[in-house]
Amino acid sequence: MTERLELIQGDITHVTADAIVNAANSSLGGGGGVDGAIHRAAGRELLAECLTLGRCPTGQARITKGYRLPAAHVIHAVGPVWQGGSHGEDALLASCYRSAFALMEKHGLRTVAFPSISTGVYGFPIARAAPIALREIRAALERRPELERVTVVLFSEADLKVYQQALGA
Ligand code: ADP
Repeated sequence: MTERLELIQGDITHVTADAIVNAANSSLGGGGGVDGAIHRAAGRELLAECLTLGRCPTGQARITKGYRLPAAHVIHAVGPVWQGGSHGEDALLASCYRSAFALMEKHGLRTVAFPSISTGVYGFPIARAAPIALREIRAALERRPELERVTVVLFSEADLKVYQQALGA
């Protein structure tokens, strides 16, 4: 199972996979951080498709095509904004990962790359987010043998180290 999970440092817009996951906001209208990078790399058609989907509640996800990205699809997952930790943030973050895997299953997708959802502008402490993300990814890999590869793409070396430590813990 662990050999189907990889942690890398890099830019998720360069990853070739059946799907990459976007840390989106509820409007699905694009934004900063990884969201902005994905929209810039995919081109304007991505925004056009997103705007047909309506709002996406926190903790849920929607799927679109990948357009000019090397990834075939984008799964837009809406993570929680950190509000101190006692407002359901952990459960909502876990729900993002589960919703993304449910869409993978529905669409028959086998390879996926995730960014570190909610740990940028949304302020979720990465040391708390990493074990939640990895727990949900491991659970999906255990349940679904058809999943070939799950990659977590960390933007900085410091973030990669946090995930590596959480993976070993
Ligand atoms: P959120 O609003 O969910 O916090 P952000 O985009 O602000 O989303 O940050 C989520 C994570 O994505 C952060 O760790 C940020 O450093 C990282 N990130 C930003 N750009 C990229 C990129 N091109 N590829 C991978 N990760 C990225």
